[in-house]
Amino acid sequence: MPDRTPYVAANWKMHKTVAEAAEFVDALLPRIAATQSDVAICPPFTALSAVVERRYGTAVKVAAQNMHEEASGAFTGEVSAAMLAELDVEAVVLGHSERRQLFGETDEALARKVPAALAAGLEPILCVGETEEARDGGQTEAVLERQLQAGLAGVEGGKLGDVVIAYEPIWAIGTGRTATPEQAQEVCAYIRDLLRERGAAADAVRILYGGSVKPDNATELMGQPDIDGALVGGASLDVGDFAAIVKAAG
Ligand code: PEP
Repeated sequence: MPDRTPYVAANWKMHKTVAEAAEFVDALLPRIAATQSDVAICPPFTALSAVVERRYGTAVKVAAQNMHEEASGAFTGEVSAAMLAELDVEAVVLGHSERRQLFGETDEALARKVPAALAAGLEPILCVGETEEARDGGQTEAVLERQLQAGLAGVEGGKLGDVVIAYEPIWAIGTGRTATPEQAQEVCAYIRDLLRERGAAADAVRILYGGSVKPDNATELMGQPDIDGALVGGASLDVGDFAAIVKAAG
């Protein structure tokens, strides 16, 4: 099985001005200088450039939180993959549950966004996860299968290893309720099985867990065999907490 470098990403959502983002990055970099893990910061669009400029010369990646699937056009308020790549952004979060639930993000759009991101040289971080209702109804696997099938439909087998999957049970996002390490591992192992059906690169794909990851639960969650890191929301807004989670990843 290939070694998978641990990966920790900070999803700031609609938090931090340019000044706050710059201050955060300046405080974070010395604290995580020794990490062997991949680290990404996902600021709002307005702070992307400030974070890109401050992290030059470090291993920290910068990710956007969304993008449009088309290269250009009459899509008011949208941003394309090429526009992000031009800023030296390296990755993009796609299909976050808040985009799906609040802004009408569809599996059909994601089927086009993931290959568009790859074509522009961006690493897609594809989010999947079930609602509480789906879990209680025994539908977790069916939901994940549908989301993964759609999100990866346009990805050639050889490109699969360039995609990062974030398993984020919706009932655990921003709620303080975390999936137990066993629950998270069970689903991430299932996701890897689904990926294996798509190609040999499945063992190289990083699968992150997201949902109320904090410094005190990060080690156990990321210690599971099929969990390769974390997508962190609330706790990523505090530099000390985020640095502690990066440290927990190794
Ligand atoms: C997220 O929004 O991706 C997330 C995991 O949020 P939180 O860590 O706050 O649950």
